[in-house]
Amino acid sequence: MPVIENLNKIKATIPANVKLIAVSKTYPNDAIMAAYQNGQRIFGENKVQELVEKQATLPRDIQWHFIGHLQSNKVKYIAPFVTLIHSVDKLKLLKEINKQALKNNRTIDCLLQFHIAREESKFGLTIEKAEALLNHPDFSNLRNIRIAGVMGMATFTENKQQVRSEFARLKQYFDLLKSKYFQSSADFTEISMGMSGDYEMAIENGSTMVRIGSAIFGKRTYQEAI
Ligand SMILES: *Cc1c(COP(=O)(O)O)cnc(C)c1O
Repeated sequence: MPVIENLNKIKATIPANVKLIAVSKTYPNDAIMAAYQNGQRIFGENKVQELVEKQATLPRDIQWHFIGHLQSNKVKYIAPFVTLIHSVDKLKLLKEINKQALKNNRTIDCLLQFHIAREESKFGLTIEKAEALLNHPDFSNLRNIRIAGVMGMATFTENKQQVRSEFARLKQYFDLLKSKYFQSSADFTEISMGMSGDYEMAIENGSTMVRIGSAIFGKRTYQEAI
């Protein structure tokens, strides 16, 4: 089974302090189960409906991470079970996550997603917007969310220097926010960066979570809309 070989190969190159998110979007349940039976427990999905369907049928001890663009009106479907939402880029979204977490009697971990790539189409905060969110009076009232760190996607390019500098920038944002807003918090620890094509560079620049899909499961048969 190539999934298992791929998974083992990648795990061998990742330091113990870096978590591997197996990005299973578009792949069928049997591919996920192959990884699961090989010990993988954290999986990432980027579409609410697909995630809800998979969660309902796959083992209960899978930790599901939501990594895609999230619309406020869909938070309610994943709030009962999601382990980490990587893609928070608006206070409005965070408030809705808080509301749905409260309804489910949970606290939901979230990452602030930054726009670090050159591409226009990718979502994410600027550092100014992130600070405005954290300084907003409404933010301090959100008791059912925890900000666990930051997330970003580098530009899709062969230019390694470009990718490196984008990862380094995300690390700088993390350090800045940690020292200004989360110094006394043990929760703010994660830097989610790195995908199949660039995870090694991400780890060199301080990644604590890599999100890897195609290098584990093979080429996706259709390109998902971003
Ligand atoms: C699809 C996706 C990944 C994984 O991409 P691969 O290149 O297949 O490893 C990582 N992060 C996000 C946000 C994604 O949408």
